[in-house]
Amino acid sequence: MDFDLNQEQRMWRDVVHDFVAREVKPMAKEVDEQAQFNWEAVEKMGPIGLLGLSVAEEYGGTGVDAVSAAIAIEELGWGCGSTALAIAAHNGLGCSTIALYGTPYQNECFLQPIVSGGGKLAAMALTEPGAGSDLQGGVRTRAERIGDEWLINGSKMWCTNAGVSEFIVTLVRTDPAGGSHSLSLIIVPADTRGLYIGPSEKKMGLKGSQTNAVTYEDVRVPTDFLLGEVGDGLKQTLTALDGGRIGIGAISVGLAQAAFEEAVSYAKERQTFGVPIADHQAISWMLADAATEIHAARLMIYFAAWLKDQGRPYTREAAMAKLFATEMAERVCRNAMQIHGGYGYSREYPLERMYRDARLMTIGEGTSEIQRLVISRSVLHE
Ligand SMILES: Cc1cc2nc3c(=O)[nH]c(=O)nc-3n(C[C@H](O)[C@H](O)[C@H](O)COP(=O)(O)OP(=O)(O)OC[C@H]3O[C@@H](n4cnc5c(N)ncnc54)[C@H](O)[C@@H]3O)c2cc1C
Repeated sequence: MDFDLNQEQRMWRDVVHDFVAREVKPMAKEVDEQAQFNWEAVEKMGPIGLLGLSVAEEYGGTGVDAVSAAIAIEELGWGCGSTALAIAAHNGLGCSTIALYGTPYQNECFLQPIVSGGGKLAAMALTEPGAGSDLQGGVRTRAERIGDEWLINGSKMWCTNAGVSEFIVTLVRTDPAGGSHSLSLIIVPADTRGLYIGPSEKKMGLKGSQTNAVTYEDVRVPTDFLLGEVGDGLKQTLTALDGGRIGIGAISVGLAQAAFEEAVSYAKERQTFGVPIADHQAISWMLADAATEIHAARLMIYFAAWLKDQGRPYTREAAMAKLFATEMAERVCRNAMQIHGGYGYSREYPLERMYRDARLMTIGEGTSEIQRLVISRSVLHE
């Protein structure tokens, strides 16, 4: 299925696929079982451009088109959910906000050093103990301008990569009065005094991707670490999330593809009642549905990415693609496990890991309910 990819995009997909097959997929079981971040693979991602997908070439990035970025994240998802989530959050949240809104100084200072793969990753902290879906109303982390510094106090939850980050792009309230212009994004280097990163959360899946709580206690950063203008934070965040949702959808397509491939080969091998289980219609139809849904989800992801590349609005299409792809991945992983019978439930087989990893995708970067909210608003106001 090539969805009219151009030659460059096809070559890129092959390069990333080969890399993931070699460096990422074989480690996925261990990454999950040891809850270990796959640094070895991440360090090798710099040279092939996977750490600078949204970063301009002049700052050392690859600055690929959005379809190519989605392809890369999909391939990573095919290899390992944990690694894919870390790299998607790095590119789609931490780096892309600076690439979109950063000054040349911020690009040089923060992006250039991390795209090569020698160091750490980027993170973005939006969610708080009391605020996830409702960032506008719920964010309590405060930033106050004092002279030429921002003074930040508050706490964040569920920050992917915080424990392995060079910096955390942080959503703060700069106007206590509230409203849609009361939030701002500030870059906070991870080694800033007063910034405390909690231990990695114990999660159902994606165990090799670090997720941490972050506390800001009288954290001070220079005023020029603000992204764009004061009060632009909500708008900037929503834009970043549009792109990030393509990434989460792409991981889901990759996870589903991997589960599907396992199911196809198992269904051909496993025999019951004297025939391969693939010969039972109940099984072959599950495979037919999976192939159809993966195909549809992939097209939706690439289409949203293509709209983004054209500079056209894509909020609704990104939400639709995320909603469909993430819910599809859960179904496909569930059925792939079903096809494996008892073995599917065993940790000796990769299905249960894929199933656990896929489960997050309908929650992170906007739950399915929030996607439906975005889509229905757009449909009703058209
Ligand atoms: C592994 C992991 C990684 C994450 N990484 C990051 C990260 O890097 N950075 C970051 O900032 N956050 C991150 N998150 C947080 C994630 O984005 C939030 O958990 C998510 O947006 C939901 O927010 P919440 O958990 O506060 O749920 P809530 O907002 O409290 O929602 C609870 C439930 O209510 C529903 N709901 C809420 N409002 C409505 C409504 N208006 N209509 C209908 N239903 C509604 C939700 O859909 C959900 O089912 C991560 C989370 C996890 C688990």
